[in-house]
This record gives sequence, structure tokens and C-alpha cells, in this order.
Amino acid sequence: MAIVRCRMHAPHGGDADFIAAVEPLGFPGSALVCGSRACDEPAFIWLEGAEKMDYDGGIRVFRAGAGEMKVRAV
Ligand SMILES: [Zn+2]
Repeated sequence: MAIVRCRMHAPHGGDADFIAAVEPLGFPGSALVCGSRACDEPAFIWLEGAEKMDYDGGIRVFRAGAGEMKVRAV
């Protein structure tokens, strides 16, 4: 499952192995905000291996982990 974080708060540890960070649509002006608790920086979408294979195959929508993302309103 993807995770939404800025480069400063790249995911590490845990069970998942994130191998790529891709830009969300509209980056850096997208609504995605780093999921790190005290960070409001624009976020990348960090993908696990199978998700990166989907991305390389043209898939562009990914399920993000609950509680692992924030969104910005206008
Ligand atoms: Zn961050």
C-alpha cells in the first residue's frame, strides 16, 4: 500500500519496502501533504515493488495507507 511523504520524511523500516517515489498529479501544487505528524510539505507517492510495476505499466491510482496521508484544501 502506498504512503504519502515528502523527501525529508521518506518511509523506512516497518514491513513495507518502498522502492520508488513518484509525483502526484499537479506536484508541487497538489493537495497531497506529507503524512509525517508535524510536516506540511508537498508529498510524493512512495510505492512498494508491485505498485511500481503497476506504475511502469501505466496505472496511476494507488491506495494509500490509512492515517498515512494528509490533504490540503483551497
Ligand atoms: Zn515531511
